[in-house]
Amino acid sequence: MRHRILPVTHYQQNCSLIWCENTNQAALIDPGGDVERLLAAVQEEGVELSKIILTHGHLDHVGGTAELVAKLGLPVEGPHKDDSFWLDMLPTQAQMMGVAPVASFTPNRWLNDGDTVTLGDQTLAVYHCPGHTPGHVILHHKATKKAFVGDVLFKGSIGRTDFPRGDYEQLVTAIRSKLWPLGDDVTFVPGHGPTSTFGEERASNPFVSDKRLKQ
Ligand SMILES: [Zn+2]
Ligand SMILES: [Zn+2]
Repeated sequence: MRHRILPVTHYQQNCSLIWCENTNQAALIDPGGDVERLLAAVQEEGVELSKIILTHGHLDHVGGTAELVAKLGLPVEGPHKDDSFWLDMLPTQAQMMGVAPVASFTPNRWLNDGDTVTLGDQTLAVYHCPGHTPGHVILHHKATKKAFVGDVLFKGSIGRTDFPRGDYEQLVTAIRSKLWPLGDDVTFVPGHGPTSTFGEERASNPFVSDKRLKQ
């Protein structure tokens, strides 16, 4: 499986174009906006877009979904059902962020902890990681040691928990119990900013390093 990171929107949200090199099947993880640019990247890579995968219901992560579905009729997988209120609130989110109106939508498939998402010959494992939002999921591709973690974890930081139904303890617990067991050598693509590895964050992240969590 290969991937390319495409920062979108004013929030520089890391949309990922991932694809199976055996079958050319591709997916966009968190197409938050700038749909024309995303489609240009799909064309540049010569891959065939077959689905949209969402980590959570925040506008900067899902804002381009309805437009892509209208254009291409793609199925949408994720997030977890507990984020349905965020998707229902999309028109309000757009208003609050001062961007063009965005319609709410319902994914074709809600994701649960332990589910898998397939793409050509590739399989991604789904982990439910609530705390930033209650229905946040992350995706792990074991074969290439890659994870797409949305706003759960960043290089040197963790997701905000001051939104409705956010929960700091829950987020830290999810990071410790769901992400760390995947291995120190896993490289993750966060929702914003540069990539890092779980090992690097365990060593130096001021919120969730091993040293910090022992205190
Ligand atoms: Zn978010
Ligand atoms: Zn975000």
